[in-house]
Amino acid sequence: MSTDVSKSEQEWREQLTTEQYEVLRRKGTERPFSGEYVHTKADGTYRCAACGAELFRSDAKFDSRTGWPSFTEPAVAANVELHQDRAYGMVRTEVTCRRCDSHLGHVFDDGPAPTGQRYCINSVSLQLDPKPDA
Ligand code: FE
Repeated sequence: MSTDVSKSEQEWREQLTTEQYEVLRRKGTERPFSGEYVHTKADGTYRCAACGAELFRSDAKFDSRTGWPSFTEPAVAANVELHQDRAYGMVRTEVTCRRCDSHLGHVFDDGPAPTGQRYCINSVSLQLDPKPDA
């Protein structure tokens, strides 16, 4: 499948920190409550830490108490892709960035209204673009 941003693994290693590379390019998971955006309430747009695509907005963020930033919906549905993930003996739905194919996290059906969805996303996969003060 073609993506808008295509880089070699060497290029990704050079661009990203070790932790970002492990999560974004090798589908790792950061330790719960370790990420910088777990408790963030600031207004703004969460962009892909690898390519800058607009992924989530602060107004869809909620406190899931899971230890990872959680959102009820993506900012732009077309900017994420969902994939069935059968790793570790579980069936989960993986969420990736459509533009650069990087791993973001997983989505579950136990979220709050209005969508009932819980996008459980690694902080390290995100970059908060704060909304300028009005
Ligand atoms: Fe991306």
